[in-house]
Amino acid sequence: MENPLIIANWKMKLNASDSLDLAKRVKKASAKYNGVEVVLCPSFTEIAQVNEIIKGSNIKLGAQDCFWEEQGSFTGEISPKSLQDYDVKYVLVGHSERRQNLGETEEMIHKKVRLLLTIDITPVLCIGETFEERQDGLKDVVLTRQLHNAFNGLWLNKSDRLVVAYEPVWVIGSGQDIDPDEIEHTHQIIRQLLYDLFEDRVVDEQVKIIYGGSVDSENIAQYIARPIVQGVLVGGASLDATHFSTIIAQAKKL
Ligand code: PEP
Repeated sequence: MENPLIIANWKMKLNASDSLDLAKRVKKASAKYNGVEVVLCPSFTEIAQVNEIIKGSNIKLGAQDCFWEEQGSFTGEISPKSLQDYDVKYVLVGHSERRQNLGETEEMIHKKVRLLLTIDITPVLCIGETFEERQDGLKDVVLTRQLHNAFNGLWLNKSDRLVVAYEPVWVIGSGQDIDPDEIEHTHQIIRQLLYDLFEDRVVDEQVKIIYGGSVDSENIAQYIARPIVQGVLVGGASLDATHFSTIIAQAKKL
């Protein structure tokens, strides 16, 4: 099995000094992270300093968003090219908190994914249904639409990588454990949908599907014990270095 991918999404939860302190603590523990690919996504304001802190370790840097153009009159936006200057390797795209709170549309998400691929940054496309959509039996319809609208018409070169993070919106930040059978089944559906969009070989070798939603050190094992779950996106539980290291240790055991 390939190394599991563990992405920490710090959201807008930490001030500058707490972010840098957390990055230092995570780096200190990182000698134990071999066999796991660990990515930290701090706020933009800490990207440069976190990059300096993790230099020389096996931790990679991610960002929580970016704009869909490289340069121009886009006040307040962040170019993926600038992120690249700070060694950012992954960017979260279409997180549900952005879709819901900032009106991020599927067209914007598509444009972000497309630009990131052209500059060799791996997009982490976040998809997932709301509780109401699930109640209405629309989960698969939503996942299909989100995936198609994000990836339709895209072509992956040999060096391009994609990550799809399945994050049921109603589980994020809720502390709920989800039946791992359901997570496995949903990952299978997502994989099938990806086979409709890309060549089989591309899906098998260049795309990872990971799970996100209240993952912690207690429940991670039950998710990533399923080989189709190739990693996790962790929010709340990534904000404490000790807890985060325990999550990584659990992932390594499998
Ligand atoms: C997230 O926001 O991507 C997330 C998974 O958060 P949490 O782990 O806190 O549910």
